[in-house]
Amino acid sequence: MNAKQKTTLILTVVFIALFIAIISIFSLNLREVGLKNAEDKARLTAKMVKDGLTAHMVSGVMDNREFFLSNIEQTENLKDLWVIRAQSVIEQYGKGFNNEIPRDKVDKHVLRAGKEKAVINDNLTSSTFRLTIPYIATEEGELNCLQCHQAKPGDTLGAVTVVLDMSNSKNIGIETIENVVIISMISFMLIQLIIHFLLKPYVDIFENIKAVMQSASNGDYSQRVTQTSSKETRELAEWVNSLMKKLQVVLDSIESKIDIFLTQKEKKKDPLEEVNETVDQLSDIYKYRQIIERDESIEVVYERLATVLRNKFGLSNFKFIEADTTNKETKVVYAEGKSYCKAEENGCRADRTNTLVDSCQFENVCDSFEAKDLEHLCIPYSISNDLDFIISIVSETMEEHERVKKHLHSIEDYINASRPEFVSKKLLQVLHESARTDQLTKMYNRKFLEEYITKSFAQAKRNNITYGFLMVDIDYFKMVNDTYGHDVGDEAIRVIAHVIMDSIRESDLAIRFGGEEFVVLLYNTTEEGMMKIAEKIRTRFEKKVIEVGQESFTKTCSVGASYYPTDGDTAWKCIKYADMALYEAKESGRNKVVRYTQKSKDTNKY
Ligand code: GH3
Ligand code: MG
Ligand code: MG
Repeated sequence: MNAKQKTTLILTVVFIALFIAIISIFSLNLREVGLKNAEDKARLTAKMVKDGLTAHMVSGVMDNREFFLSNIEQTENLKDLWVIRAQSVIEQYGKGFNNEIPRDKVDKHVLRAGKEKAVINDNLTSSTFRLTIPYIATEEGELNCLQCHQAKPGDTLGAVTVVLDMSNSKNIGIETIENVVIISMISFMLIQLIIHFLLKPYVDIFENIKAVMQSASNGDYSQRVTQTSSKETRELAEWVNSLMKKLQVVLDSIESKIDIFLTQKEKKKDPLEEVNETVDQLSDIYKYRQIIERDESIEVVYERLATVLRNKFGLSNFKFIEADTTNKETKVVYAEGKSYCKAEENGCRADRTNTLVDSCQFENVCDSFEAKDLEHLCIPYSISNDLDFIISIVSETMEEHERVKKHLHSIEDYINASRPEFVSKKLLQVLHESARTDQLTKMYNRKFLEEYITKSFAQAKRNNITYGFLMVDIDYFKMVNDTYGHDVGDEAIRVIAHVIMDSIRESDLAIRFGGEEFVVLLYNTTEEGMMKIAEKIRTRFEKKVIEVGQESFTKTCSVGASYYPTDGDTAWKCIKYADMALYEAKESGRNKVVRYTQKSKDTNKY
């Protein structure tokens, strides 16, 4: 039902209700007036009869009353008129010439009660008003009934009944109502016509604007208001149309501008909603970018990106993998949740193929992914010429997997925002690492050791962590340089570096301290454990055969050992004591491990 139909229906209902109310009030009033008139007329006639008869009676011409009554009967609308006598009067004077006895129950009632009674007889064909008034015996005033009647004051002597025909006034009432109905119907139709012509332009424009707004709420801002039949509605249409046009132009413009900043994504039904979402996304990315620009290292940036994936996209199991395209090395740099990926050992398919890997594409699509009952998505992003970045996302259910796929565009926006920071911070990391790494052995250097001791040793002290310190030095190394040349000397240094690295745990630390001298920090070890590692390094190295073309040779090394906190209360003291022990080892014949003692101190005095 449109607005016009609704208005018409409401008006019709209101009009009909009003009409019924008016007709009802009108009919009731007409009837009241008719009845009042009839009652007045009947009372007057009855009074006239009563007074007339009394006059006849007083004058002693009662027998002539017939003429008087027949004259009264000529009164207009007087249908019937009769006089009755009470039993006492009948007994005294007889029934009268017209047999004036009670005719019906009403007569009897009036005689008995001594009170007048009105009866309305209303049916389809006729309508009458009957009034019966009693004659009451009185001895006061000019008339003393008791002079002639054997009765007491207050006794009912008789009654006069007047019956008036009300059909006439009823018919007038019906005619009036008919006229009112006809006039009302004509008025109703006229009002309807006026309303129709007055409201039509407004109803039409309302319907038209409604349709345009409906399209707009469904995302279509191209619809315009077309029906304009009056000046006011034309103005309204112009305002609505210009507003819609502005909206459409602005939205198109925002959309095209935003597309430059964000990757293409699924179009929403409503461009306004889409713009709102996009502005939110841009603002979030802007804030993210501002934060990561000021972050200290690439590790912190990875943490930030992980926070975004966790909080914004609801991911709980994912990994960031760095792939060095020059060295073909793959390294997990951030992991959240249980790990199912062996990319570090087996390589990364997403990186190798440089395409997105989706577990839905093919059964066991990636060899490196071990949980066959889970879904995974691995997306490679090229960060620089020699660095690829891979995000590997694991989902427990297919719904979750599909949900993740829908977020890939937004995730890519974050990667794009991170790219400059990835590149610059990665460079910093490389520089930082190379400044702390010895290029010949790839071991940490002295600079790193200094930083490590400053940053981490205080913590070790607080946590009662013990450290074993070893100082390792190749015996008679100069001879290697002198005999085989510097390059072979370098190779000997690499060999002992490998021996040291292979002999210690991941938690331990090996540093090229200088020349062919190494410091080893054995984390949370016992003194016996420390001595065992030192011995292991010594024996393994003496067995290593160093090839020089056709020739080969072996070398030995000496090791000095000190223990924290037993020997010294600082790391530097322990290093110094390990060096003293090394000196003692050299002095006492080389190719041996010497634990720092007081003797070492004494030996170093010379
Ligand atoms: P000792 O048994 O007393 O240790 O005798 P040594 O000959 O090994 O004496 P020392 O430890 O003092 O020898 C250090 C030598 O190592 C001096 C230097 O020529 C050489 N050297 C230092 N750094 C390098 C390097 O990077 N490469 C090479 N080939 N030789 C180095
Ligand atoms: Mg040496
Ligand atoms: Mg040396």
